[in-house]
Amino acid sequence: MHAVSPCPLLSDSSSPLIDWTTMAAPREPEVIRDKAAMRAWSRRRRAEGKTVAVVPTMGYLHQGHLSLISAAAAASADPVAIVVTIYVNPSQFAPSEDLATYPSDFAGDLRKLASTGVVDAVFNPPDLYVRGAGRRAAATGGAISCLEEEEAAGDGHETWVRVERLEKGMCGASRPVFFRGVATIVSKLFNIIEPDVAVFGKKDYQQWRVICRMVRDLDFAIEIIGSEIVREADGLAMSSRNVHLSREEREKALSISRSLVDARTGALKGNTDCKQIKNKIVQTLTETGGQVDYVEIVEQESLVPVEQIDGPVVICVAAWFGKVRLIDNIEIDTRS
Ligand code: AMP
Repeated sequence: MHAVSPCPLLSDSSSPLIDWTTMAAPREPEVIRDKAAMRAWSRRRRAEGKTVAVVPTMGYLHQGHLSLISAAAAASADPVAIVVTIYVNPSQFAPSEDLATYPSDFAGDLRKLASTGVVDAVFNPPDLYVRGAGRRAAATGGAISCLEEEEAAGDGHETWVRVERLEKGMCGASRPVFFRGVATIVSKLFNIIEPDVAVFGKKDYQQWRVICRMVRDLDFAIEIIGSEIVREADGLAMSSRNVHLSREEREKALSISRSLVDARTGALKGNTDCKQIKNKIVQTLTETGGQVDYVEIVEQESLVPVEQIDGPVVICVAAWFGKVRLIDNIEIDTRS
């Protein structure tokens, strides 16, 4: 059903790009901003016998996001009602991070979603937190990027979901409030929408694993689907933040996907020493002008670091190119 445009570098691990013109006719999704209205909408769809699938996003949609919608549409043999959420979650950004400059284009997003013909509703809440009296104080420092000031005021949001071990390494090490913010807001979306299925991208590999563990530990009756990374034709993992890369930075950033492919090729040939592999990737990224945040080789499910590749692992990378922090990863299984 989907037109395939394989990425030359990573064709065996990437999702096909989707030609939505071959799918259903364009159809405007219903835009819902109110939590109670969203919950009522979802319950009506379930009463009609539909499977409700949710695709959480922060907007500024690209083909990576649209591939998640494709996975949602295929999630059940029953008719699927698809909700895409668009919400830039303030609590996952630390004060020093890029909340204020995070790209957005709601009208453009709606056009893209309509073009798929399969999205039934867009949930775009104005805010998912009870704002406390400390809000004004928090706002004076610039963008409201963390809710801690409001917690201190005593009457705002103060309940958080933490996935204690999985949230610590990799992105959690350099973004200490990130997974707390993600897990909390995803829990709220699950409570409001009450979906049967939720789709997350493996592009944010640690986030996907954090959500899987949260769903297991807290008994959410929701199937979590992990969807493959969608890349530009030259291998760069699609990301809303790529728009902030200069042409030169974008060219340099290709070293991320290239070094991951080289590492996988090497591992499949027997170069399985993780220290050597990580050093090589760090060296390559640094030589091309990147500033490495981390390179880790971890077990796919537990995210525990390994010293030798001898089972299913994933190499995860975060690196800065200019002012843009990019993440990417590649799964490897030397036994398969
Ligand atoms: P974001 O809007 O960046 O928060 O991403 C929303 C969802 O889209 C997350 O589950 C991401 O992992 C997923 N996603 C973002 N970029 C890609 C990509 N290039 N390929 C697949 N999924 C992606």
